[in-house]
Amino acid sequence: MKEWIWKKKEEPLLYEMSVPGRTAYTLPELDVEPSEMLGSEYLRDDLPLPELSEVDVVRHYVHLSQLNYGVDLGIYPLGSCTMKYNPKVNEVASRLPGFTEIHPLQDPETVQGAMELMYYLQRYLAEITGFDAATLQPSAGAHGELTGVLTMRKYQIDRGETQRNKMLIPDSAHGTNPASSAMSGLIVVEIPSDERGNVDLEALETELDDTVVGLMLTNPNTLGLFDEHLEELVEMVHGVGGLMYGDGANMNALMGIAKPGELGFDVMHLNLHKTFSTPHGGGGPGSGPVVATEKLAPFLPGPIVERTDDGYIWKMPEKSIGHVRSFWGNFLVLVKAFTYISMLGPEGLRQTSEHAVLNANYLQSLVKKTWPLPHDRICMHEFVVEGQLKDVPDVHALDVAKRLIDYGFHPPTNYFPLIVHEALMIEPTETESKETLDAFAEALEKIAEEARTDPEVLHSAPHNAPMRRLDEVKAARDLILRYEH
Ligand SMILES: *Cc1c(COP(=O)(O)O)cnc(C)c1O
Repeated sequence: MKEWIWKKKEEPLLYEMSVPGRTAYTLPELDVEPSEMLGSEYLRDDLPLPELSEVDVVRHYVHLSQLNYGVDLGIYPLGSCTMKYNPKVNEVASRLPGFTEIHPLQDPETVQGAMELMYYLQRYLAEITGFDAATLQPSAGAHGELTGVLTMRKYQIDRGETQRNKMLIPDSAHGTNPASSAMSGLIVVEIPSDERGNVDLEALETELDDTVVGLMLTNPNTLGLFDEHLEELVEMVHGVGGLMYGDGANMNALMGIAKPGELGFDVMHLNLHKTFSTPHGGGGPGSGPVVATEKLAPFLPGPIVERTDDGYIWKMPEKSIGHVRSFWGNFLVLVKAFTYISMLGPEGLRQTSEHAVLNANYLQSLVKKTWPLPHDRICMHEFVVEGQLKDVPDVHALDVAKRLIDYGFHPPTNYFPLIVHEALMIEPTETESKETLDAFAEALEKIAEEARTDPEVLHSAPHNAPMRRLDEVKAARDLILRYEH
């Protein structure tokens, strides 16, 4: 407990501020007989909770919030994770009582508005990605992957192709790809990338046979690069009866420009909590809808909303893999995504992607002056540099990331993708201004200078943050959530 920051700043914990008898609320006098719902054996006379005034509590939590960094405070260039600004109108919409005060077990006739929203969101997502059908069930990207892979499997088994058991996954893939394939009972085969950052076609060729379930491809991939042989790849995989799975966690480069469904993908998940501007981090809530072509649509999980002459109804697809989640999925996340898409419209979505790609390329052009760029190509919505300088091998990407905190910036993703040495993966998103990008690039330039002149300042960074460098494994594994005296 002693390590906690507000303690360090000589600020007492709530328990230590407690004064007997101090309260933060007033309740009206009881004007009914107290009910005896619980037996006295369940009641405690002494409940050791802090006794505080309202202002104590407010100040405590506002102070905590000020120790935090979020996308409402500044750029959050976390490659692959798309931390973009979330318009507040999304929140307003998702708090409307008509959405928050309904229950998924209500008679569909009484929740037609919510079902209409889900129906249109299904249509919007299918339209944006070029697919025929959508399910809004999965709760996150990884959950969408599992759903998509199980859908592919069921389609193939339905055709009698029971021998297929191998999923091909490029080495640049997000870790959830092999995980969700393995959880679906498949053998994962890693395909290396070539020196331009594309899938290595020769390596792919050697793995292609009738045991292939499919290829899971993130395109643009996690290097921020659009695969230059996409058409060939698709033909090769389809040629052996395999399916193309698209990891669409990040559609930020493609909206209104290219549709994966038209590029040969068969099924794909989307992360509403990345591309479609829903706040995320800290574990959720998220939403990972899955979109699919006509031939895979009958296998998707349900219920899916359908429109009939008599209104909206719930429908389980004919050969569905079943439920992957209770009820409607993360409904209020769906409301936010629907609001975001409706506010932008087709033109706005296209501009969003254009600006995301423009911002990433602008920033790449500045950052590559100081930091090594392993794949010097036009990037899509993100790019990856090496966070280590040839002449200063002692300074690592982690030091650079931590030093950025001192300059007031959230660090980029680091040590992913695994195929780039000392990776710093930067995704500025479309919501940052040129001034912010310039300032971020300047900080990275200064840090390169410091690496050469004063490496110690990087090794011991951050210096200005509420917390110094953490043991990240311990922080994740041995989290202390309970106050102990
Ligand atoms: C974020 C991400 C995922 C996983 O999404 P979650 O919602 O975190 O499960 C999968 N693939 C890629 C490329 C991602 O960026």
